[in-house]
Amino acid sequence: MVRGVRLVILGRQGAGKGTQCMRLARHYVVPHVSTGDIFRASVKAGSEFGLQADEFMRAGTLVPDEIVVGVVRERLCQRDARARGFILDGFPRTAAQAEGLDEMLAEERMPIDVTVNLDIAEEDALARLAARRVCSTCATIYSTSRPPAINWTCDNCGGEVVQRQDDTEEAIRKRLADYNELTTPLIDWYTERDSLVHIEALGSPDEVLARLVCAIDDRKGA
Ligand code: AMP
Repeated sequence: MVRGVRLVILGRQGAGKGTQCMRLARHYVVPHVSTGDIFRASVKAGSEFGLQADEFMRAGTLVPDEIVVGVVRERLCQRDARARGFILDGFPRTAAQAEGLDEMLAEERMPIDVTVNLDIAEEDALARLAARRVCSTCATIYSTSRPPAINWTCDNCGGEVVQRQDDTEEAIRKRLADYNELTTPLIDWYTERDSLVHIEALGSPDEVLARLVCAIDDRKGA
């Protein structure tokens, strides 16, 4: 039986975090907790909270730290995450969120097993994001070099596979610059706490997954 795990996955946009987190969640049988997905779902549901989050997302800015930390706390306290663990994707994104997470997990006695940085150079990330295509129905990720089998129709659900509106070169450069400014300091934060593992993000999805599982199991002493 595969043991559960508590993971934080960091990495620039374009590193393949979304793809690898879905695969890791299946491998370790733990929930994939993506704050971006949680916000998009609440916008779709039209809740008051979703309306608030929508304003920040449309403006291309981060949702305030107190709101995000509260949302993550609520999710990590659910039964599946308590029982098996979780994979955090897109959180923490600022030093204040990392501190909030640290306090929350200490209170709940759920220490992180491993923090992974999926390493990718900025120019490689840019090229990947420009080539990225996404299913408009189920969010499965493709690229111009790995398209769906038939005519931009999703292999998974038959939805239309398109380029994200925010995957223009200008918007991509802005997101990468924000990442460098706000999220790169977290690499130092986790390095100081000796819980960071660097994994090379280039390669096929299967190759990267194999590297990740090997490094995570090694850290956990599995
Ligand atoms: P993502 O899908 O991770 O790129 O997130 C989409 C949007 O959701 C971001 O541009 C932010 O507006 C918001 N968001 C997601 N995660 C966070 C976070 N940890 N802190 C603040 N805002 C977030």
